[in-house]
Amino acid sequence: MRSLDDRDVILVTLDSCRYDTAERARTPNLDRLGPVHRAETAGTYTLPAHTAFFAGAIPTLLGDRHRIGGDLYDAVWRSAAARPSAKTAAVRFTGRTLMDHHRARGHHIIGAGGVTFFDPREPANWLPDLFDDFHYYGRPNRTAAQTRVQDRDETLTLTHAAELADAFLAADRSFLFINCPGTHIPYTTPLSQLDATTETTLERLYALHDGKTFDSPGLNRDEIATLLDLQVRALEWADRQLGILFRAVADREPLVVVCADHGEEFGEGDRYGHGHPHSTVTTVPLWSGVLSGAPQ
Ligand SMILES: [Zn+2]
Repeated sequence: MRSLDDRDVILVTLDSCRYDTAERARTPNLDRLGPVHRAETAGTYTLPAHTAFFAGAIPTLLGDRHRIGGDLYDAVWRSAAARPSAKTAAVRFTGRTLMDHHRARGHHIIGAGGVTFFDPREPANWLPDLFDDFHYYGRPNRTAAQTRVQDRDETLTLTHAAELADAFLAADRSFLFINCPGTHIPYTTPLSQLDATTETTLERLYALHDGKTFDSPGLNRDEIATLLDLQVRALEWADRQLGILFRAVADREPLVVVCADHGEEFGEGDRYGHGHPHSTVTTVPLWSGVLSGAPQ
């Protein structure tokens, strides 16, 4: 039987997706991997979170284990450089990053991003350099603030799910990473479009998000419900698009991990957004498993 190490790998990050969003959303395609797990991330915003993930430290499950290929593990990946531990890992990797490890095993290393830390046109960004092929679909890094509240389609990575599936299938063995901006503020996707209410609420949220303030009036209960609903529908859209990818690649039975890089606070600790430690920011959803090629 093929070892887990030799399988194709798909790692997907749902940017800023809260755990309670994943509990509420209908996600039939993600459910193919098994139930959603509650996990804790090492990073409170995109750059430190992905730095940890690419070093194998994906979010740690809280009181649960990964079921992968019929076996239970404490972790999916563990670095050969990590201190000895009694905890079990599905794959012990030897490179500096997951991508280095799989490149050495013959995988083609493909990445796709949508939030600005993945924009290769920005000279300070180094995350895209970790991939052999990197596709950036997001807006440019230096977009003026007034254009942020907008409907999105082409700038969402998973709009291009079929194209990414083709890139994955073009090599005999692939490692595919996808960062998904649909669940990131402004939470707009083809299933979560702007209207008068969401537009006003998002403008308010951006002001609070930017200010990181404790003293201005926060969002009221209705406004928070509006934002949570938007993110739930954004996740349901991501699930629909992941269905396109999963159906295309299922025969290869890849190892798949889907998680948020961090969550999002909507005033629970009197702050908004992410980039600071609060349980709504550090608690994230995670799905893991081997995608089955069996008919659904
Ligand atoms: Zn992020």
